[in-house]
Amino acid sequence: MKLLFFGPPGAGKGTQAKMVAEEFDVEHISTGDILREAVSKGTELGKKAKAIMDRGDLVPDEIMNGLVKEKLIELDSFILDGYPRTLEQALFLDRTLKELNKEIDAAVLIDVSEEEVVKRISNRRVCPKCGKVYNLITLKPKEDEKCDVCGTKIVQRDDDKEEVVRGRYKVYKANTEPVIEYYRKNNKIITVNGAQDVEEVTKELFNILRRFK
Ligand code: AMP
Repeated sequence: MKLLFFGPPGAGKGTQAKMVAEEFDVEHISTGDILREAVSKGTELGKKAKAIMDRGDLVPDEIMNGLVKEKLIELDSFILDGYPRTLEQALFLDRTLKELNKEIDAAVLIDVSEEEVVKRISNRRVCPKCGKVYNLITLKPKEDEKCDVCGTKIVQRDDDKEEVVRGRYKVYKANTEPVIEYYRKNNKIITVNGAQDVEEVTKELFNILRRFK
């Protein structure tokens, strides 16, 4: 199974990609998670990426392409979550997969409007220790603002603030919609309505994706 996951920030893309990866036992590669880990560890990559991510802009293509290629060489099954985000990245991915004799099965688009995204993201919290994601409306921790898994106080990511979210939605429209169009032309796009409950989206995805197992 080789899948791409697309959707605006806050569509639930990461949550769904994780569920699908677990259900079908494939590797989940989230470029956002890789970058955030690099930032928290203070690596060279993290130092380069931090200011860009805090502004809601995109990290340069060369950096992202190198990062992803390294992973793809090792894997026969994967979900790429958050990559490719520009046409340049999509073309690089195509070339890399050809070199490796691999091909994408489908590109999943989790579709959600800007207003829904803003409403959701401003309520999103994350555990700074184990990375578990919460939503103060739809996916509350059992105990007030504390992680269910490790008890750490959950926090708001810098790039989840409203003005940054609106900026990221614009960045998504400008950069990633052309990428989605590119995969649409290649008949790879599967669209799922991301405004449904989390569980509904997951159920629909499991049903649709079973055929690529
Ligand atoms: P995400 O968690 O996927 O929303 O990613 C968080 C941030 O990481 C984005 O707003 C970008 O700054 C950066 N990022 C993640 N993936 C990419 C990518 N493929 N290309 C460029 N920047 C990325």
